[in-house]
Amino acid sequence: MFVDYAKISIKAGDGGDGAVSFHREKYVAAGGPDGGDGGKGGDICFQADDNLSTLADFRYKRKYSAPRGENGKSGRRFGKSAENLIIKVPRGTVIKEIESGRILADISGDEPVTVALGGKGGWGNAHFSTPTRQIPRFAKPGMPGEEFEVSLELKLLADVGLVGFPNVGKSTLISVVSEAKPVIANYHFTTITPVLGVVRLDEGSSFVMADIPGLIENAGEGVGLGHQFLRHVERCRMLIHVVDVSGSEGRDPKEDFEIINRELERFNPELTKIPMLVAGNKCDLATDEQIAEFKTYVEEKGYEFFPIMAAIRYDVDPLLNKTRELLSKLPPIVRYEAEAAPKIETDKLRDKKFTVKVVDGVYIVEGKWIANIMRSVNFNDYESLQYFQRVLVDSGIIKELKKAGVQEGDTVSIYDLDFDYVE
Ligand code: GDP
Ligand code: MG
Repeated sequence: MFVDYAKISIKAGDGGDGAVSFHREKYVAAGGPDGGDGGKGGDICFQADDNLSTLADFRYKRKYSAPRGENGKSGRRFGKSAENLIIKVPRGTVIKEIESGRILADISGDEPVTVALGGKGGWGNAHFSTPTRQIPRFAKPGMPGEEFEVSLELKLLADVGLVGFPNVGKSTLISVVSEAKPVIANYHFTTITPVLGVVRLDEGSSFVMADIPGLIENAGEGVGLGHQFLRHVERCRMLIHVVDVSGSEGRDPKEDFEIINRELERFNPELTKIPMLVAGNKCDLATDEQIAEFKTYVEEKGYEFFPIMAAIRYDVDPLLNKTRELLSKLPPIVRYEAEAAPKIETDKLRDKKFTVKVVDGVYIVEGKWIANIMRSVNFNDYESLQYFQRVLVDSGIIKELKKAGVQEGDTVSIYDLDFDYVE
């Protein structure tokens, strides 16, 4: 079954906690602190796999998590970092965070792309053997791993997309110009999976063509089969609109042409900007007048027209040559850029949960959401720092610290950040 959309949840591994441990030897009264750091949690990465053509696997398994880093150990031994989890997806899969709708990654290249970062390991108490803090009984917890609900959307990577009503001969066309062998049959909706084919021309030039399943009226609004396939048109550099000029099914080719163009626009107005050639198919069944009339019609609309007989590959070459010429002037296939996380309004943080505990006079604050915010804060940047201070005030952390008895000059510890409290 062809599936080109799925929702899953991903959770990168938490960092291991730092260890609290003291060096112990016979006859040594009080050894120094020797707790090692925790290991880093595993990242969640995605990688393209050309053996996969659908997202069907994600219908059954919807939760993915990377392992946690190991806790630190005594004797200054570090916890082991966890392995990353690499999730294989078909090439062209776009990953979006569901909550914000932002793009996290476009898995179109070969390298694995990290989408959720594993948490850093916490420091063991060996780090805190400073003269002022002689007996450091505290260690740092590991940072939580990033966690997202994401959508996976397959948007095929094709140079040319074939669009048109069902049964006009799109599958026939791709089968005579490429190695692709889609099902061809004289009834509607035979193509239920977009099919990619490589069209090889002389002089070693080639391009990728996609047979997009038949669109029907109102497909753009989600009625019937077809609408879900429109997303595969979005990345095409150009389109070939295939029309049955003979109107062999009792339809009017002009009307068909209009309907499909309308559906494309309704799905995404950007689609109307994609350059389009028009292929009038089934010329063997059409009269010369029918062909001439349709040609005039599309040319008046500003499109180039190519009469063909796909079934016998007749006059297909001029269409392919024009396609190649157009492609040579068009920008490459769109790759989507990852989008930065939106900044959270600090007044929305009022009900977020966190804990404050005091160990050895150090005020330790923990909370998953704080770790998430800290990842995006640049502590060397004044504005960013100001924002973080607002987070501390608006979320109630400062209030809780005061309740716990914090005094001017005390150390506050939030994951890998330590600072002196000032009024
Ligand atoms: P699709 O639904 O657009 O993919 O259409 P298909 O490629 O499956 O073709 C639908 C029907 O039209 C099949 O029976 C084909 O054999 C037939 N067909 C394709 N090209 C031609 C052509 O040039 N002339 C004629 N007469 N029939 C064709
Ligand atoms: Mg077909």
